[in-house]
Amino acid sequence: MSAVRLDRVTKVYNNGVLAVDDVRLEVEQGEVLVLLGPSGCGKTTILRIIAGLEELTSGNVWLGDQLATGLRPRDRNIAMVFQNCALYPHLTVRDNLAFPLKMAQVADKPARDEKVREIAHGLGIEDTLDRKPGLLSGGQRQRVAIGRALIRGKPTALLMDEPLASLDVGLRSGLRAEIASLIRSLDITTVYVTHDQSEALSLADRVAVLRNGVVEAIGTPDGVYRDPATAFVAGFLGSPPTNLAWAATSMVPGEQVIIDFGRQRLVLPWNEPMSEALTPYEGQAVIVGIRPEALTPAQADSNGLVLRGKVTSLEYHGHEWLARLEVGFRPVDLASIRARPQHPGPPGLGTADRRSSSGGDTSSGHGGHRGASLLVRLGSPSGWAAGQEVCVAIDLRHLYVFDAFGKRVESPAWAHSPSRVGS
Ligand code: ADP
Ligand code: MG
Repeated sequence: MSAVRLDRVTKVYNNGVLAVDDVRLEVEQGEVLVLLGPSGCGKTTILRIIAGLEELTSGNVWLGDQLATGLRPRDRNIAMVFQNCALYPHLTVRDNLAFPLKMAQVADKPARDEKVREIAHGLGIEDTLDRKPGLLSGGQRQRVAIGRALIRGKPTALLMDEPLASLDVGLRSGLRAEIASLIRSLDITTVYVTHDQSEALSLADRVAVLRNGVVEAIGTPDGVYRDPATAFVAGFLGSPPTNLAWAATSMVPGEQVIIDFGRQRLVLPWNEPMSEALTPYEGQAVIVGIRPEALTPAQADSNGLVLRGKVTSLEYHGHEWLARLEVGFRPVDLASIRARPQHPGPPGLGTADRRSSSGGDTSSGHGGHRGASLLVRLGSPSGWAAGQEVCVAIDLRHLYVFDAFGKRVESPAWAHSPSRVGS
């Protein structure tokens, strides 16, 4: 039995914004599930729904074996750490931690003190108990916020809403590791929200990628990264980002499949699994995703799976170089494509994205005058220089093809895994 289950949950706010769109989600006992997506995609709304702070428009929420739809927040055993982790600045850590106990009318001061000591010990912040929040490091403040959320006992789930978002970039990666080990040691079912893909990949047991209130992919970090279900997921996960370009397919049956980018083309042997997956798309526009690490410098006279381009920039990053090649690709505007053909919703409803795209296809992909550059990740010196014409070979394992709606053409391996839920 899962600890938290959302069954076809939809939330439309009073102003007509469709914030959560038919979401199915299961969080297993003890699992760390990360909800990942850009600002406004519905992450906070989902947490608030689990906590009982938002009414559902339709669907149900289950906590363990209990139907929780309609239950008041205080009748759910849910702990939540909010985005700005607001501690009371005028109270000591001890009093901040004890606050929920006071509210719950745990009258006995020795009992409260004992609980505070216990949780402070568990979180490694005993020596800060007499300090005020202003004198704590970011990590210590975060621990106090978590301690305060957990002090009333082990919750059915701990919800964390972008707990690192308000901190300096420099602090974040260290804290990320701290939080990761902390939530694992607590062994509490956790739903963790972030817009930062590297945070998600490093923390999660499973990641659910959200866009416009829809779960576009869910799986292990490695699964969703390696096998992106949609063009959006491919573009959102990975740093540097996946190259995405429009192409047309054609084929010579029994011989080859051609992916035509306009100024250049890739010719796949007929016996490639990718060729088979592309057969139903003959003559259609597709979106091709190529990870920057899928490309390696090749000889200028190479045949086969190579792309040619002019080096427009070379950036040195210490452990690698990033090259940009001018290749004449037609770039993909992700905002103008959607993951599933639009389903008829109640009239007048729409997320910000749907509103903006209803004004017509603004995709620079179709009429773009400037080709997108191809990002290439180089682990060792390539000898390339800006202005040079070069060739790169493609590792087909990191090449993905999506239909014009952004849905993966090849069947992602994880789609067959039994742990997959959602749509
Ligand atoms: P995220 O946490 O992913 O940034 P939210 O869940 O906060 O996204 O918001 C999802 C969508 O719902 C956004 O378009 C946001 O503007 C809208 N929204 C959030 N809260 C409210 C509210 N109380 N009333 C109306 N619209 C809201
Ligand atoms: Mg939010």
